[in-house]
Amino acid sequence: MRVAIAHNNNDETLKVVARLKQLLEEKDVVFDAKYPDIVITVGGDGTLINAFHRYVNQVSSIRFIGIHTGHLGFYTDWYSDNLDKMVDALLMHEPESASYPLLEVTLVTEAGEKKRYLALNESAVKRVSHTLEANIYIDDQLFENFRGDGVCISTPTGSTAYNKSLGGAVIHPRLKALQMTEIASINNRIFRTLSSPIVLAPDQWITVVPNADHFVMTVDGSRLNVLNAKKIIFRISSHVIQFDRFGHHHFWTRVKNSFIGDDNDAV
Ligand code: NAP
Repeated sequence: MRVAIAHNNNDETLKVVARLKQLLEEKDVVFDAKYPDIVITVGGDGTLINAFHRYVNQVSSIRFIGIHTGHLGFYTDWYSDNLDKMVDALLMHEPESASYPLLEVTLVTEAGEKKRYLALNESAVKRVSHTLEANIYIDDQLFENFRGDGVCISTPTGSTAYNKSLGGAVIHPRLKALQMTEIASINNRIFRTLSSPIVLAPDQWITVVPNADHFVMTVDGSRLNVLNAKKIIFRISSHVIQFDRFGHHHFWTRVKNSFIGDDNDAV
């Protein structure tokens, strides 16, 4: 088994990484940052997202494990004080993995060239200083003419991130669905959008045809300045992200603890 460790540089994280390396060395695990079977991240959800993009071309053959330093995250399923248990579980013969949907984003340029990206959380199309005007199609049927700051298309695991801040629903990650939320849409007697988040079935896709020669597209935390694109197509990817030994925390309890607070926090 070849393992890579990706981490942030917080003091607490560095201590956890040192202990983790020691435990893995005792078990004769091979460290291979280039072609790992397992990527263990130590840090927050942002650390796991960065590692996902670093290994995105090998996503079909890699399993991820997230160790959270600080609060429990959504991708980071293991507490740092459970390292021994995690390493023992890692070395069990039958891996128990969970896989979750990814978002495939295809940017079609004016010249018809296609550029593909994979997002773990979401991708958004936005304009910052002027209104974004775009036709939005679902399965090639015109759905609405959008005017506003932009739209965000998120995965189920990304539904607790930017999507949630935009008023989107939190979706259980076992559901294979895409969600589109509007970012400050203009609605008046002349311009009208649905004005509520929509959730698409697994085989459906969204096409955004912007009526603008430049706009911004985000893929998770990264920003691309796009010039003269014809359209952007969003669909569930045929690839998934695989987590090893994931899901030993109840999803809705994690949502509650992250956004509402522990029972202990109640006054
Ligand atoms: P970042 O600073 O790495 O992340 C911003 C916050 O979002 C961090 O607290 C991060 O948790 C949390 N986060 C990331 N993925 C999450 C998920 N699936 N569920 C719940 N919380 C999550 O920001 P970035 O590098 O610019 O972008 C990374 C992601 O952060 C984006 O994909 C976007 O979804 C989210 N984000 C949200 C907003 C917003 O809600 N207005 C703004 C910017 C970015 P950790 O502290 O555990 O890393």
